[in-house]
Amino acid sequence: MNYRHAYHAGNFADMMKHGLLLVILRHLLRKPAGFLVLDTHSGCGTYDLDSVEARKTGEWRDGIGRFDTIPEGPVELVDYLHSIQALGAPMRYPGSPGLIASVLREQDRLICCELHPEDATILRHNFRRKDQVAVHERDGYTALKAFLPPRNLKRGLILIDPPFEKTDEFDTLAEAIRTSRKLFPMGIVAAWYPIKHRAPVRQFHDTLRDAGLRDLLDCSLLLRSPTDPSRLNGCGLLVASPPYHFDEQAKTLLDALLPILAPDGEGSVEIRQIVEE
Ligand code: SAM
Repeated sequence: MNYRHAYHAGNFADMMKHGLLLVILRHLLRKPAGFLVLDTHSGCGTYDLDSVEARKTGEWRDGIGRFDTIPEGPVELVDYLHSIQALGAPMRYPGSPGLIASVLREQDRLICCELHPEDATILRHNFRRKDQVAVHERDGYTALKAFLPPRNLKRGLILIDPPFEKTDEFDTLAEAIRTSRKLFPMGIVAAWYPIKHRAPVRQFHDTLRDAGLRDLLDCSLLLRSPTDPSRLNGCGLLVASPPYHFDEQAKTLLDALLPILAPDGEGSVEIRQIVEE
């Protein structure tokens, strides 16, 4: 396990993923009944962007670093930027557990899984005073079978955000989406993936279609056309059972992020239903 999210926190991919994550959470928060979020690959929960790791890559400078003021824009963008600002941005950037935990009500729960022992220790420390958050140092993929369906809660979100260090990660991710749908059909699933070139993404979508899964929405943001597979050219979030009107909100949010994250005009956004309900 070489991947450490501290080197990448606050980059364009985090902004895309966390902005969309917050839109989904806002939907869940509309109803009084509690919900569970299972965050299978959690990282540390919050990151200091002045750390040695963050300074080494400087990736955040082309992400949250471009938002030193909150621009006028759609509610989806402004809500996200205000929310992370309240958590310390731009110099402290929340990871997915930090953002999720910040909106939880008493009746909601967050289960975090993180396999790297050091990051799991930091994560546990960060949430030591938050009763609704449980931290597990364990494999997030096997955690699906351990924690789904949620006990006592009928609604929820499964966030799967693997590091893509392994060559078969797309296959593992597709299988994890399938498992999540089977064990918790009422739940929303949001799965992040990198776009280096198009072929693996096409294959990933085909695998999901072939598995017979329904109601799949794909959201992607490209900084540039993915012709050079040695670069992270963009990223995607595959959402199963998206909330009502999420597709329009996702498009609005990503369209607002795009000109700031990819100012040279070579980027693009696509929201596509890859399998109908
Ligand atoms: N979701 C986090 C966020 O948005 O702030 C970032 C997660 S980062 C992309 C992936 C994390 O997964 C890393 O912290 C890595 O240590 C952890 N990891 C790698 N393999 C794992 C596994 N099988 N189960 C759980 N965590 C794993």
